[in-house]
Amino acid sequence: MDVYGLIGNPVGHSLSPPMHEAAYDTLGLDARYVTFEPAEDAVAAAVEGAGALGVAGLNVTVPFKQDVAALPSVATDDLASAVGAVNTLDFSDASVTGHNTDVEGAVRALREQGGASLSSATAVVVGAGGAGRAVAFGLADAGASVRVANRTASRATDLAAAVEREVDGATATGGGLDALDEWLADADVLVNATSVGMETDETPVPANALHERLVVLDAVYAPLETRLLRDAAAAGATTVDGAWMLLHQGAAAFEHWTGEDAPVDAMNDALRSHLDA
Ligand code: NAP
Repeated sequence: MDVYGLIGNPVGHSLSPPMHEAAYDTLGLDARYVTFEPAEDAVAAAVEGAGALGVAGLNVTVPFKQDVAALPSVATDDLASAVGAVNTLDFSDASVTGHNTDVEGAVRALREQGGASLSSATAVVVGAGGAGRAVAFGLADAGASVRVANRTASRATDLAAAVEREVDGATATGGGLDALDEWLADADVLVNATSVGMETDETPVPANALHERLVVLDAVYAPLETRLLRDAAAAGATTVDGAWMLLHQGAAAFEHWTGEDAPVDAMNDALRSHLDA
């Protein structure tokens, strides 16, 4: 049996176990997905121990994504290195490889559910924390011109500079939330990568800045229908909820681990049945 899992703290409410186990059931794989909560100072030992025990793959979540990216024992891919965070470890090769599938999660959700063409898009990312970094690098890597708006403007300008430095040919700019009205007027894509709207009926984006030419992804998935997505739908925009990003990051991890196409419909059903519950 292949063992996969998640390390983080806490991991009790993670939706990854049912999502991944639905994939194993659908494809008839002899595999299990389990959660681990190492102490905050034990992440290096946890990764080394997982490798020694023959664990096939691990997802990594808060607060360990940055710590794992910095481990010398992990060969982190270029995009995950640039983001500075790893959420997927693959133990199948001689060396442990690290990836950031939040990047692919956002890009695939925008393309597949939003119908967005990213290669020449103008994209606005709200937020410059962990999710904001992954989304900004992913969009720039896909060819979009990126504008990062954040409550703490200096984090946005730092992120934009890092994107331009690390991604060949990228165009990125950063600023405060007060830039949103102007930046959204001619934008094609908007992603909320802040925690605003999580379990509250708040939005970081003024409703009157939204328009029908936008594809809007909200990384927040609790609730699924955030105030931002309600405002965006009312403005005639195409909306993509945060569960699609969560699904596609999981599907991308599954593909890194198994080399097989992920059964996304089954994974999506499992995910949404837990989110709706
Ligand atoms: P994080 O690293 O803590 O970053 C939080 C971000 O939210 C920062 O940009 C912060 O701005 C901003 N923010 C927080 N409170 C704010 C407020 N009241 N007004 C304006 N901005 C505010 O968190 P994260 O890991 O990036 O996660 C952000 C959200 O994305 C969470 O809701 C998380 O669940 C979600 N997420 C979803 C997925 C998915 O697959 N759907 C994946 C990853 C994360 P400052 O820099 O000014 O503090």
